[in-house]
Amino acid sequence: MRQLTYKPRIAIVNSPHPNWDYEKKELGQLAEIEVVRCGSYEELFSLCGDADILMVGDIKHIPLTREVLKKLPKLKLISVYGVGVDTIDLESASELGILVANAPEYGVEDVADHTLALMLSLLRRIPMLDNELRGRGWDSIRANIKDLKERFGVFRRLSSLVVGLIGFGRIGRAVAKRLQPFGCKIIAYDPYIPDHIFQQQRVQRSSFEGLLSSSDIISIHVTLSKETYHLLDEKAFQLMKDGAMLVNTSRGEVVDEEALIKALKSGKLSGAALDVFEKEPLPKDHPLIKIPNVILTPHIAWYSEEAMMEQKRETVLNVKEFLLGRKPPYLVKP
Ligand code: NAD
Repeated sequence: MRQLTYKPRIAIVNSPHPNWDYEKKELGQLAEIEVVRCGSYEELFSLCGDADILMVGDIKHIPLTREVLKKLPKLKLISVYGVGVDTIDLESASELGILVANAPEYGVEDVADHTLALMLSLLRRIPMLDNELRGRGWDSIRANIKDLKERFGVFRRLSSLVVGLIGFGRIGRAVAKRLQPFGCKIIAYDPYIPDHIFQQQRVQRSSFEGLLSSSDIISIHVTLSKETYHLLDEKAFQLMKDGAMLVNTSRGEVVDEEALIKALKSGKLSGAALDVFEKEPLPKDHPLIKIPNVILTPHIAWYSEEAMMEQKRETVLNVKEFLLGRKPPYLVKP
C-alpha cells in the first residue's frame, strides 16, 4: 500500500452529486479537494495526473485500465460513488498498490423497491394501461375485457407464480424480503452464498438451469464480471418457460440484448422491465424502445434522497479513514 507524507490531493471525477459541501466538510482539513469533469483520457490525465486519491462517479467512457492506472503515478486510493467497480482493472490496481473502495450499501433498499415496482408494473401492465387510458379512453380497455389478453398479454396473480432471483447478495435478498408477503414461491441461484442464508431468507436454492426452466419471473442481481457477462444468452432464453418475464436492475451486460430482443419478438418472453442496458445512455432509436411489452427506466433504480446521502457518506468514509491512516471500511477485493 502506497503511503502519504504530505497534504494529499483528491480529485472528485464526474460525481453524480450537485454539490460537494459534505466532502469539503469531512475531508477539507485533511486534503486539497478539486472537483473535475472528465469526458476523455486527455482530460483525466491533465486534471488528475497528480492526484493521490480519486473519488469517481460515472467513468464508463474512461475505464481505469492497467495502462491508465500506470499513468497516474501518485494514485493511492480510488473511492467509487456507487457499487459497480467494473470500470476499474482491480487486479492491476492491486499490483500497483492502489486501493479500491466502493459504496456497497447505499442503494440496496432503493434498487429492491425499484425491482418490485418494475415486477408489479410488468405483471399488472400499469404503464401500458395508463398509456391506453390517456390516449384512447376508458372504454378502449373496459368495453373490451374479452380482448385484453390479446392486446396486453396474460394477467397473472403474483401469489401463484415462481420468482427466480439470479444473484442472492444484498439486493437479491432485499428483493426476496419484499416478495415474501405476496406469497409467491421464491427461488435463487448464487453458488457463492452458503445454504444457511437461503434458509434464513426462506428462499429455495436452485441451479442456474433449474431456475431458468421453472421461473415465471426472473430478476437479475449479480455483479458484472467475466463470468456473468452475457449470462443470459440465447441458450438461456431457450431454457426459460414460455411467457416468462425478465427484470434486470443489475448491469446491462449480464444480458445479451440481441438475444433478449429475439425472445421478446418471438413471444418466448411475455415482457421485460429493464433499468440497465448494454449501451448507456440508451440510444433513442434502440430496438427495445419500439417493443410494447417492455418497461424501461434510465439506470435510476438506486436513486432516492436517502440513497444520495448514504452514497456520499460511504464514499467519503473510505477516503477519510485512509487519510487518517486506517483501513477504508468498504475495500473491494481484486
Ligand atoms: P452483491 O455483491 O451484494 O451481490 C451480488 C451477488 O452476485 C453475490 O452474492 C455474488 O455471489 C453473486 N454472483 C456473482 N457471480 C455470480 C454468478 N456467476 N452466478 C450467480 N451469482 C453470482 O451486490 P448487490 O449490491 O446486491 O448488487 C447487485 C447488482 O445490482 C450489481 O450488478 C450492481 O452493480 C447492481 N446495482 C444496480 C443499481 C441500479 O441503479 N440499477 C444500483 C446498485 C447496484
